[in-house]
Amino acid sequence: MGGGRREDDMLLCKKIKIKVSEQDAATLEWMQGKCRGLYNWWVMRLRNGERWNFERAKKSLRESKQYDPELRSVYGKLLAEVYFRLDGAMRAFFRRVKAGEKPGFPRFKPRHQFFTLCYPAMSLEIQDKTVILPTGGGGNWGPKRYPNIAAHLTEDPPDHFHEVAVSRDARGNYYCSFVYDDTEQHEDDDQQKTRRQHPLRDDGIVAFDLGIKTLATGVNDQRRFYHLGGFKGYRYYNKQLDKIRSKRDKCKKKSRRYIHLSNVYKRVAEHKRRKQQDCLHKASHLIVHRLAERAVVIGDLSQRQMVIKKREDETPKERKKRQVRNRMVYNDWGLYSFVQMLEYKCLRFGKELHIIDERDTTRTCHVCKCKKDMPLWVRTYRCENCGLVMDRDENSAINIFERFLARLGPHTP
Ligand SMILES: [Zn+2]
Repeated sequence: MGGGRREDDMLLCKKIKIKVSEQDAATLEWMQGKCRGLYNWWVMRLRNGERWNFERAKKSLRESKQYDPELRSVYGKLLAEVYFRLDGAMRAFFRRVKAGEKPGFPRFKPRHQFFTLCYPAMSLEIQDKTVILPTGGGGNWGPKRYPNIAAHLTEDPPDHFHEVAVSRDARGNYYCSFVYDDTEQHEDDDQQKTRRQHPLRDDGIVAFDLGIKTLATGVNDQRRFYHLGGFKGYRYYNKQLDKIRSKRDKCKKKSRRYIHLSNVYKRVAEHKRRKQQDCLHKASHLIVHRLAERAVVIGDLSQRQMVIKKREDETPKERKKRQVRNRMVYNDWGLYSFVQMLEYKCLRFGKELHIIDERDTTRTCHVCKCKKDMPLWVRTYRCENCGLVMDRDENSAINIFERFLARLGPHTP
């Protein structure tokens, strides 16, 4: 984490200095010490010849908590991250051995270095530039030894992010590094880029709803959501293209200016297409190479009816909207080529791609299963029956996920 390796285009990292109270700083120090202790304890076992088994190691957390009850005061997801980091270190080790490189067995983390704490986005709340970093305990988990940490961000965080790594520099400043996709939002190019590899979970499943506003909205078997934004430049390019074409159409056919403008049009169209393809490539790459789930589930696009039909009494605004939408569906959307890329990449990378019936997944409430009409412009699913309020794409992704599970039958997880 935080090393800012440039080899990857996909996940970016925005590192923001935070301000915390003295007590919260002490809590951070205490939690990172506990996480480091757990990490080093495992490194010691592995150095003594114990075989690494990720699942077994994860399950052993219970025993570790019995042995050291103080671990209960560390936020659970931070402890879980320790096993992911160990797993990554062991995989890297084996990869180097296999490649005949210097093996570099995982090392002990020294006490003077802050052990980076990784929070998944799901566990964080941000309000007015203050991010709440949870500690362990509370509620059903027993008394809370340390209150949650209120970290004040000195800059705005990215809109959507996957996880937040808390670190400290040599001078004792604390930072939150927000890891996010550059397909979701375009930030300055000088952002630090970072690479983070999750081990493949063989029984992991992620289901995606593919759409226009958001290219892909996914949910996995741990109820974690993924949002892939897709190509944002349609409107800009379409405006340019429309302008060029209307200029051209005013010229005499085959005239020099006509030919020139035709060439400009072709060039801009090609540029747009390349940008879009690039974006789809990145998104499919992320799904196939970055997400830990082995099984990827998407809906069958051939059943879609996405085009808005022309209405007799439409207002000029509605007319414009229809034209823009239909243009996107027919020319720009690129979902079909996105699915082709997914198919190809899944095949190559050893993931399973399942394409299932997606009828009514947008219309159905995933909680109570009742159905209602969901026009394309309604972004939030509000169920009158059970009171569910949820992003329409997230609701749909859950439906696709559950439909896939139901198809597997009762013998699979
Ligand atoms: Zn409902």
